[in-house]
Amino acid sequence: MNRALNKSNLKHLTGLLQRFQSTLVIAEHNNEKLTPITLNAITAATKVGGEVSCLVAGTNCAKVAEEISKVKGVKKVLVAQHDSYKGGLPEELTPLILQTQKQFNFTHICAGASAFGKNLLPRVAAKLDVAPVSDIIEVKSSDTFVRTIYAGNALSTVKCNEPIKVFSIRGTCFEAAPTEGGGAASEEVSASSPVGISEWLKQSLTKSDRPELTSAKVVVSGGRGLKSGENFKLLYDLADKMNAAVGASRAAVDAGYVPNDMQVGQTGKIVAPELYIAVGISGAIQHLAGMKDSKTIVAINKDPEAPIFQVADYGLVADLFKITD
Ligand SMILES: Cc1cc2nc3c(=O)[nH]c(=O)nc-3n(C[C@H](O)[C@H](O)[C@H](O)COP(=O)(O)OP(=O)(O)OC[C@H]3O[C@@H](n4cnc5c(N)ncnc54)[C@H](O)[C@@H]3O)c2cc1C
Repeated sequence: MNRALNKSNLKHLTGLLQRFQSTLVIAEHNNEKLTPITLNAITAATKVGGEVSCLVAGTNCAKVAEEISKVKGVKKVLVAQHDSYKGGLPEELTPLILQTQKQFNFTHICAGASAFGKNLLPRVAAKLDVAPVSDIIEVKSSDTFVRTIYAGNALSTVKCNEPIKVFSIRGTCFEAAPTEGGGAASEEVSASSPVGISEWLKQSLTKSDRPELTSAKVVVSGGRGLKSGENFKLLYDLADKMNAAVGASRAAVDAGYVPNDMQVGQTGKIVAPELYIAVGISGAIQHLAGMKDSKTIVAINKDPEAPIFQVADYGLVADLFKITD
């Protein structure tokens, strides 16, 4: 057989296989607005091939369903509304996802690797008795994904042989799907019966006029070098001038300088802004895992040997308290 023919047959076969795929993206939202990472998940889903549908489950989420129906690449929006979906509890959403998967025979189920997705997808995968693939950074084909291991020091290409592929995506590695240009049909799906083993009581969100950490174009982060929570004011003032979000290292969070939701890194948030300014942060591997894909990195540290300088595009070796005088 000739080689060129083989190659073209293979391409044809891959195309055919992709057409048989269908992905369900679980939308993350607050009943009013879609969380941006869902748009990145939609892009990842389109790379799988085949049709992309979105499940919007909430208490009063018609607005979100309308928003998603305009997103390019989405074919169908499935809407389920019930009081039990308040707070997006995995115990309540999982039966709905399983029932929707069964009804429409989705080959793939995905969501953003945010707190929401990390909370939900392992339960979905366990109930389907499949192994999930978490926090992927690339879709190679409908069954092959790339994810980072060893805190981002190595890339692992995973071929998933499960009949239903459940995966979460790293938002910073996929472009956001355009919010205009789509024309998806909306369909109501019946709500699952409430499970009642957990109850959503309330959420206390930090109120801030600054941009959200994971979607901000500029992030100013502080570490243990700041020495106290009060000193973070230096960073808040700078951030306000630059319309930036403020992040922190785990050491700063553990020391109680700032709240947990500001933590950047392996066990915190993954960010990839246009500009990341690290102030008084040593650059431990676990911190780098959360910010090294930033377009431009600026580091301010008094220790010229600090590892952060190895990833920085611009470095300033100085005492942070003196340069701000
Ligand atoms: C499983 C695991 C998960 C982890 N997850 C994360 C994570 O998600 N995010 C994270 O950040 N860490 C994480 N860590 C912790 C990580 O290993 C480091 O301990 C932490 O990042 C250190 O924070 P830091 O750089 O602020 O503190 P330090 O390492 O103490 O560094 C402080 C830096 O400030 C500089 N400095 C001090 N004073 C000044 C000054 N006056 N002017 C200028 N510079 C100054 C010092 O030279 C030093 O480089 C994790 C660790 C483990 C084991």
